[in-house]
Amino acid sequence: MSTFKARGIIIKENLVGDNDKSLIILLKDYGKFTVWARNCRNGKSKLLAGSSLFTYADFIIYDNGRSLSINQIDIIENFYNITEDLDTLAYGTYFLEFVDKNTQEATPINDIMLLLLKSLLILSKTTVLSPKLIAKIFEIKFLQINGYMPIVNNCCYCNISISNQNDIYLGANGVVCKNCKSKEDGLLKISLNTALVINHILCSKINDLYKFNVSNSVLDELSLASKKLLNTHLYTNLKSTSFIEQLENI
Ligand SMILES: [Zn+2]
Repeated sequence: MSTFKARGIIIKENLVGDNDKSLIILLKDYGKFTVWARNCRNGKSKLLAGSSLFTYADFIIYDNGRSLSINQIDIIENFYNITEDLDTLAYGTYFLEFVDKNTQEATPINDIMLLLLKSLLILSKTTVLSPKLIAKIFEIKFLQINGYMPIVNNCCYCNISISNQNDIYLGANGVVCKNCKSKEDGLLKISLNTALVINHILCSKINDLYKFNVSNSVLDELSLASKKLLNTHLYTNLKSTSFIEQLENI
């Protein structure tokens, strides 16, 4: 039995009984854990304000050997701005669900935590980048952190540089030139600009990810490209995805 302090962000909540919550928290240096917030829905509870989705905080956690429960929450950021707007709430919820469904418990994932925090921060503050672009950058960087790195400078099959090619396609493992397109089914035609944007995302540090913008046509292609890569490599059957797609089609 012990108590420890850890910085983390709440990515999922389940209401249990009249006053409790079971939370899933990404904890820096520890990874993803299920933690009880007992009695937190009682109006007098000191855990009331900090035991909600999106809360980034220092948690003091008690481990009784069988389960973890929260003793104290010192809020650093609650991302209140995200929850005030339907669009940002939909995307923010999507980021949380995406991380939850595509990570294992009890494995340190500090890079993913940093990516999630940076993405939520930019989502809550920017007036320049669209939530859709933030989501595409988030998805492609997440893939890379998970060990999947699409090849985007040279054709996956013949290694020819794509910088002088007019016809470029995206396959499961990266770009494909015109001469090799018969080697793979289901290729997506993309512009050189879109390939360059994917390359830029892969080459950027997490702290520098959200410093560029794209045209609407590149964003549409980037969206299809990301969808193709995700469907090949990650779990994407998320409840929040269909809600975002509905919003984008309004
Ligand atoms: Zn080729």
